[in-house]
Amino acid sequence: MKALVKSRSEVGLWLEDVQMPNVGINDVLIRVEKTGICGTDLHIYNWDEWASQTIPVPMVVGHEFVGEIIEVGDNVKDFYPGEIVSGEGHVVCGHCRNCLAGRRHLCADTSGIGVNRPGAFAEYISIPQTNVWHHADDIDREVASIFDPYGNAVHTALSFDVLGEDVLITGAGPIGCMAAAVCQYAGARFVVVTDVNPWRLDLAKKLGATRVVDVRSERIHDVQEELGMKEGFDVGLEMSGNESAFREMLENMCHGGKIAMLGIPPRPIEIDWNTVIFNMLTIKGIYGREMYETWYKMTVMLQGGLDLSPVITHRFGADEFQKGFDVMNSGQSGKVILDWTV
Ligand code: NAD
Ligand code: ZN
Repeated sequence: MKALVKSRSEVGLWLEDVQMPNVGINDVLIRVEKTGICGTDLHIYNWDEWASQTIPVPMVVGHEFVGEIIEVGDNVKDFYPGEIVSGEGHVVCGHCRNCLAGRRHLCADTSGIGVNRPGAFAEYISIPQTNVWHHADDIDREVASIFDPYGNAVHTALSFDVLGEDVLITGAGPIGCMAAAVCQYAGARFVVVTDVNPWRLDLAKKLGATRVVDVRSERIHDVQEELGMKEGFDVGLEMSGNESAFREMLENMCHGGKIAMLGIPPRPIEIDWNTVIFNMLTIKGIYGREMYETWYKMTVMLQGGLDLSPVITHRFGADEFQKGFDVMNSGQSGKVILDWTV
């Protein structure tokens, strides 16, 4: 089968013929239809420090996908050929204390699809049945292909109660933009989104941000005044991984404010802990999605009318993957979809 492979320790990915994946007794074989390019895939493409230390070569990459079940292993009783499914990208150990307690998102022994085990940028992928999410019939097929990052947005945005609250989102990448839409849907009052990239800020507006802020030319504090906010943001969603964005967030929270951190800082961040202590802030780290409560909420919100379609800005055939990675690297994209059926 064809697959996008990190087959050399250098910048790039290569479309190659590889072996069909094995289907074990607990596995599900899926014919991939559409895939989303994630920031992680871009790190792997660009072969940065993290990627070169993490990814064994060769590796079929990619983890955001939708496809059709082709075959199931002998132990698989709940999934059937023909069903449209996506995969949860974190394969957990299944026997640690957290896994046994049903808190699988807290497993400390997680393996990543397209990172530590063969991924979804391929004609077929085989994953454990415990990682398969069967989509409801009314879920749009393109949106289904980005359930993984949409799940990051939902897990973060719903970590704290946002109904009637003022939310600050730092970082208008695809995940920050989807989080803005989710916060609006969940009843937030103001959803203010910051970035340093005007193209991305326009995208956040399309996804329903109340106000976008280019932090190179405007201060978040001034925007609070403009909106008539007196005491700072109730909820902060850090979605940039940027050091100064996190510091500005800390400075703009109300006393008792709650921060959910998804963005991954490339290096340790120094902050003024007095702000956290005297303002009694809560900071919660977010990794992945809750299995499968996040997936359930994602589905129900889409069925209730949440519209994520503007976040998908580019579509290419899998053989045009280079264009997809180029546009991702340009910073002028939301989600980029590769079609594996062409
Ligand atoms: P992205 O890189 O596309 O978006 C990050 C955005 O932050 C960019 O638009 C960038 O311009 C912006 N930014 C840079 N400096 C800023 C500043 N000073 N203030 C405000 N914004 C600034 O990433 P994404 O795919 O949307 O993902 C968001 C973050 O979440 C990334 O850091 C990613 O690594 C991380 N992530 C974490 C998990 C997890 O499980 N914890 C999963 C997926 C992604
Ligand atoms: Zn575990």
